[in-house]
Amino acid sequence: MQYIEHHPENDPQYKGLTVNEGVSAPPIVNPYLQKRKQRRFLTPAEYVEQIRKGNITVLSQAVTLTESQKAEHQQIAQEVIEKCLPFSGQSVRIGITGVPGAGKSTSIDAFGMHLIHDRKKKLAVLAIDPSSERSKGSILGDKTRMEEISREANAFIRPSPAAGSLGGVARKTRETIILCEAAGFDTVFVETVGVGQSETAVHSMVDFFLLIQLSGAGDELQGIKRGVMEMADGIIVNKADGSNVEKANLAAAQYRNALHLFPLPPSGWAPKVMTYSGYYKIGIHEIWDMIDEYIQFTKANGYFDERRTAQAKYWMYESINEQLRNHFYQSPEIKEALAVKEQQVLNSEISPFTAAKQILDIYFHK
Ligand code: GDP
Repeated sequence: MQYIEHHPENDPQYKGLTVNEGVSAPPIVNPYLQKRKQRRFLTPAEYVEQIRKGNITVLSQAVTLTESQKAEHQQIAQEVIEKCLPFSGQSVRIGITGVPGAGKSTSIDAFGMHLIHDRKKKLAVLAIDPSSERSKGSILGDKTRMEEISREANAFIRPSPAAGSLGGVARKTRETIILCEAAGFDTVFVETVGVGQSETAVHSMVDFFLLIQLSGAGDELQGIKRGVMEMADGIIVNKADGSNVEKANLAAAQYRNALHLFPLPPSGWAPKVMTYSGYYKIGIHEIWDMIDEYIQFTKANGYFDERRTAQAKYWMYESINEQLRNHFYQSPEIKEALAVKEQQVLNSEISPFTAAKQILDIYFHK
């Protein structure tokens, strides 16, 4: 290449290539972050005070403590829950279930906007999804699924606790309900997928159990277990919009017929079937009128309190069962014995009953 003799860059007067003194680089570690890390735990009384003031950040922290496996966290959490208990119980708790794709998140978004804006409610959305262990956190209750309410100051959305057995996950959700109520949330949704065991757990902690159904091609009644339908206080057929309205009405009629075959539930309330569209927000108001009617009806006939008392008793036994089971399976000598005995049972060396007895004898130090 030919050297260009009169190129401006070769001119000693050319200023473009002079090097200026740079600014000094900031330290890699942000000193403010270090300070934040040293934040101490609040005392249980401080947690309760902030929760009662409706401080959402502190509420979230307290929920995280209830979900923690650490003994020290659990101790604080239990104290906070105990202190919040007198301020809880004032909300309407609603279980929401439906198969994936039924429109749970779309509907919760629509219900939430209706409740917050038209009925001036404060809504907490919780979820129970024991299958979430794999994904380390559930897709249920995920904020990104509920775009509208996730921007609302009067909505608190919390995904399913990730770890543990259904019993453990359900207990944590129940504790979260208490914390949310103490923080002033007067409506609580507990969402679950209508395919597994978790409906029973949800049913045992709510006042009203809402089943979201779809209208399909004649197989309406097959997608969901009969037992789940029997638990429902209301069945709502989603996607009653556009060309789907007729199908949805047909499905609703079929559900009504099916429900006639069930005995009247102990509440004395005959479950209602309605159609609506979560996406186009059609029929939302009517669903909430129905739920209000149910609450008034069951409060008047005493069933509302009866159900809550029965639930409290159920949770006492559930809590005992869970802690006994944990204590048993986490004991090192039991873990060891289980490994040995399991192999012996697999090799058909001893019967499962003998194995169970021998392990329990070790546990009870016989
Ligand atoms: P989820 O799995 O039960 O939470 O269901 P989603 O809320 O994610 O909804 C599943 C699909 O159904 C999405 O593509 C929604 O846009 C659609 N969908 C939900 N509600 C309605 C509705 O009322 N009408 C119609 N046409 N589509 C809906």
